[in-house]
Amino acid sequence: MPSDCIFCKIVNKEIPSAFLFENDALVVFKDINPQAPVHLLIVPRKHIRSINDLKDEDRSIISEMIFSGRNMAKTFKTDTSGYKLFFNVEKGGGQEVFHLHLHLIGGFEK
Ligand code: AMP
Ligand code: ZN
Repeated sequence: MPSDCIFCKIVNKEIPSAFLFENDALVVFKDINPQAPVHLLIVPRKHIRSINDLKDEDRSIISEMIFSGRNMAKTFKTDTSGYKLFFNVEKGGGQEVFHLHLHLIGGFEK
């Protein structure tokens, strides 16, 4: 892991953060700068730079991330009203933290 990776530090509890969910593969916490009433980050424990860097062996991590996104949307009661699950990929795709993460945003009034 790069020593300056902020999400590695959060995953390893070197920076305090309240995990809303965690398992062997990933942790979930609130985005510090929410873009919607619900804005969570689903972050694998393994340091992977971006979607571009996924290996075949990472398939189960991605699966866990998407299922966790679905489950957290239900926990935060935004499953019925609707939500977005997305990855920003590299700088042109809006990625600012280069440790893979899935955004869950929801709670919009519709
Ligand atoms: P991205 O632009 O896809 O790389 O998203 C990075 C996200 O991480 C942004 O929405 C930031 O607000 C969020 N973020 C950065 N640092 C922290 C932190 N220490 N705790 C929680 N969220 C963070
Ligand atoms: Zn990292």
